[in-house]
Amino acid sequence: MIDTHTHIYLPEFDDDRDQIVQRAKDAGVKHLILPNVDTETIKPLHLCCERFPSYCTPAMGLHPTSVAEDYKQSLKQIERELLDTQRYCAIGEIGIDLYWDKTFLKEQIDAFKIQIRWAYESNLPVIIHIREAFNEVITVLKESSLPIRGVFHSYTGTAEQAKIIGELGDFIFGINGIITFKKSDIRSVIPHLGISRIVLETDAPYLAPVPNRGKRNEPAYLPYVCHTIAETMGITPQEVASETSCTARKMFDKIKILS
Ligand SMILES: [Zn+2]
Repeated sequence: MIDTHTHIYLPEFDDDRDQIVQRAKDAGVKHLILPNVDTETIKPLHLCCERFPSYCTPAMGLHPTSVAEDYKQSLKQIERELLDTQRYCAIGEIGIDLYWDKTFLKEQIDAFKIQIRWAYESNLPVIIHIREAFNEVITVLKESSLPIRGVFHSYTGTAEQAKIIGELGDFIFGINGIITFKKSDIRSVIPHLGISRIVLETDAPYLAPVPNRGKRNEPAYLPYVCHTIAETMGITPQEVASETSCTARKMFDKIKILS
């Protein structure tokens, strides 16, 4: 299995990061993709990836909830990071989030547009975060009319929305612990996505799957997501693990997995 979206560089893991990585390896997780959040997280992200160089690969971007008045300055710093073209496997996480706050909608849209262009110019996939902003994100992608590829992380949309996304480019869907929640609608949606367009993620420290819901999440909990997908689609966890890893390697073709 590959955890295509985790934030183990955050302070939540400062006390036991080595054990977190060991537990993930013991649980059969072969690689971690670490998307950036804002300018403050760049340093801890790098330190984490330097400590586990063959196990963690960073993605660089400005998260939509971190877009504020000073977003142009933040983007400048992130653009400088991207000059190191070999370092990152994706632009992320980027997108639009109107759940917490709509104050900076205009700025969020602009930051998203700029970062999509970087993805195109650097030939990297994007990691897209959407919350209550499906139409806004689709509009930006349509208007950009650039051949973009990437993952819609933490996908909780409908089958119809997935179809619209599929018409916009080479996109896959990140499924996490939400699928293990009792009232989750995503279980009825994933058969429409098809196993070849799904990748696994934890989004740790957030969204811990059942039976650890509400606790700090970690990559070692990825098998709970894998098993629930297998159960839902009537295939084996081994098939889910190998299909999703294959899809992740194809999309994030810069990650190097040792074994
Ligand atoms: Zn995230």
